[in-house]
Amino acid sequence: MSIAKNKDGIESLNCDNHYARLPAHFYNKQMPDGISDPKMVSLNPQVLALLGLDSEVNSDVYSDALLQLCSGNYLPAGFEPLAMKYTGHQFGHYNPDLGDGRGLLLAQVKPASVDTDGADSPTWDLHLKGAGRTPYSRQGDGRAVLRSSIREYLCSAAMQGLGIPTTQALSVVVGSDAVMREQVEQAAMVVRVAESHVRFGHFEHFYYTQRLDDLKLMLDYTLTQHFPDALTAEVPYLAFYKQVVTTTAELMAHWQAVGFVHGVMNTDNMSILGQTFDYGPFAFQDNFDPAYVCNHTDYSGRYAFNQQPQVGYWNLMALGRSLTPFMDIAPLNETLQTYDDIFLAKLRQLMRAKLGLQQVQDGDGELIKNLLEILASNEVDYTHFFRLLSGFDSTLDGAEVALNSAIRDQFIDREVFDAWAVQYQQRLALESSVDDDRKVQMNRANPKFILRNYLAQQAIEQAADYDYSLVNELLNVFANPFDEHSEFEALAALPPEWGRKMVLSCSS
Ligand code: AMP
Ligand code: MG
Repeated sequence: MSIAKNKDGIESLNCDNHYARLPAHFYNKQMPDGISDPKMVSLNPQVLALLGLDSEVNSDVYSDALLQLCSGNYLPAGFEPLAMKYTGHQFGHYNPDLGDGRGLLLAQVKPASVDTDGADSPTWDLHLKGAGRTPYSRQGDGRAVLRSSIREYLCSAAMQGLGIPTTQALSVVVGSDAVMREQVEQAAMVVRVAESHVRFGHFEHFYYTQRLDDLKLMLDYTLTQHFPDALTAEVPYLAFYKQVVTTTAELMAHWQAVGFVHGVMNTDNMSILGQTFDYGPFAFQDNFDPAYVCNHTDYSGRYAFNQQPQVGYWNLMALGRSLTPFMDIAPLNETLQTYDDIFLAKLRQLMRAKLGLQQVQDGDGELIKNLLEILASNEVDYTHFFRLLSGFDSTLDGAEVALNSAIRDQFIDREVFDAWAVQYQQRLALESSVDDDRKVQMNRANPKFILRNYLAQQAIEQAADYDYSLVNELLNVFANPFDEHSEFEALAALPPEWGRKMVLSCSS
């Protein structure tokens, strides 16, 4: 593929490939295996802007250069693609054979622009997922399919719009190559954009192979690049661990509050920056079910919704174990024991915001717990309920709270709602804000639009027929999921019967 000369900035992306400066046995340098006849399914302008690139450029050369870049067919100057080696615990079992089996870190890009506050813009990893076989592919073909690529792309955008820490995705491209899964599917690629692609599993790799010099190098690299504050702490590796414990606990709180089930929380899917790399068999809660398992291969329910906080802890324990060659277990353990408090404090803060509570009161935990119980026992739609709750009329007297009928009607057992509504009304009486103000505030904490699996499924089916409009509509709506978007009202609809509690396959 020949690319014309003027690519409006793409050719001159400023690379700072610090990972590629690590010793050669930390990765495998290789070229992507591009897909044929690529078509741009969707390009996220916000992510493009992060890279200092313009989404408004109206030039065929520029669009084509982006398409070729995002399909593994063109590498701008300075790109040094490599597959990272890491390992990790999958479903509780250590697997020494992991690594980038179908993705390549293409480059680490540092946009020339500086933020208005003078802060340096971060360096962004560009990771091409579906880029062909690597030494870590095991039996896999190194490819990604359209279905899973759209899911990852939309979920990254949805999380970003919700204000939840996340890796981002620049693009989804589809090609004409056939990929064999349970059926023949179209090959696709996503360009993932994140400040780091260092996983818990990077450290586990060197720990379990007892290559302590390499482990130390990996740690020092990570602190230098991503945790500069930890470098000057009394015990730098402990300070690093503290930060990972904190951001991971907070991420779990975000997921629980928004009703997100990740589905495959293996340690190789955990970023040291408190994000996840893997949006595979995930789900957002429709009818609230604390025990929801969305991953078809998760027979024991290890990654059920209500297990996630514990799994976050377990994964952090696995990371902590990898630090034991360099420090006592006691301080690591002490740090790990802060997890519960950090998680709970964050969860309470997020749930209070969802309920429109600005003050902190003793009974809040109980109020939240009671609500979650009745949402579960009545199979109430989680997102829809909280959005409706912003219209709760707290001025009604006594038994009249039952007049909050739109909310009440979500419950099969209306009386359990009435009982809770009285508690809620009493609690709201302790607040200083009036209903109207609270509504505005609650609508900023409770999204109207969420990436329900049925929506993702519809977008995927249309895209398989070369119609990418729904993918792009969803992308736009999820950028601001708290806004009304009256023209897209249909995208806030409850799932049809077939779309409820979907269970998804990992074979992507
Ligand atoms: P995941 O389930 O996507 O987190 O992947 C777990 C491991 O399997 C990682 O090392 C991936 O790189 C690898 N992997 C997943 N799918 C493929 C594939 N189609 N080809 C090669 N490796 C894969
Ligand atoms: Mg993964």
